[in-house]
Amino acid sequence: MRNNQDRMLAGAATDNLQQADPPPQNQTLEFIVPTELVELPSKGLFYGEGHPLHGQDSIEIKHMTTKEEDILTNESYIRDGSAVDRLLKSIIVNKRINVKDLLIGDKNAITLAARTYGYGAEYETKFTCPSCGTIQQTSFDLTEIENGAFEKEAEEFGGEIDYEANSISLVVPRTKTKLEFRLLNDDEQKQKKKNKNKLISQFFSKIIKSVNGNSDQRYIKSYIDSMSALDSRYIRAAYQKMIPNVDMGCEFECENCGYSGKVEVPLKAEFFWPK
Ligand SMILES: [Zn+2]
Repeated sequence: MRNNQDRMLAGAATDNLQQADPPPQNQTLEFIVPTELVELPSKGLFYGEGHPLHGQDSIEIKHMTTKEEDILTNESYIRDGSAVDRLLKSIIVNKRINVKDLLIGDKNAITLAARTYGYGAEYETKFTCPSCGTIQQTSFDLTEIENGAFEKEAEEFGGEIDYEANSISLVVPRTKTKLEFRLLNDDEQKQKKKNKNKLISQFFSKIIKSVNGNSDQRYIKSYIDSMSALDSRYIRAAYQKMIPNVDMGCEFECENCGYSGKVEVPLKAEFFWPK
């Protein structure tokens, strides 16, 4: 019986072969790696004309393969902190797109997608409960993460978006000072911090483009130096909400106190190097 079946199968396979078209000559072995479209938080609205993402609301990326795993496990890339950037460069299909000039929020969205397609949506890491402070092993579902609604947020803060100038303006409620903010790209975000004790003022000098229409550097610096702590907090919070980005919120349930709510997912090594 078994032999008969084997023979039948073998016969069927031969028949199929005979019916099939002859293989094309000079055929090369090119495996097609599946690609996905990742929605850009910026919707391509802040990229100037001539930029490959100008007006594009999504970007095409390849799924991670062994080649990308080699990048992520390369000791020297891990040491110099370039592994994730090299990974993104490798998976972005349009090679005219430079990782360095991606807006921060767009880069975050691509990074998140790469992780989800590469290792799945379940992200396990240690997390501290915001209610009782217990540190626990937590599993986050990355599919809950969505792109933030920056246009709606800007409206709520009374902000004005200028796509041409690549900026968002905001009037500080207490002092009625009108600030114009820049949207940083990956390169600008990374620029070396000169003094680690001045992180907040350095952040402001990067993002503030003008104060009451005045873009003189000394004028901006004196404004930053005299800004009240209250305004500083308000401006930082408003800026984070108004710029296009992914909203890293995921559901968390504490196994100790029963707290349940949306929390910001911490980005730790396990994100790309799951244990
Ligand atoms: Zn708790």
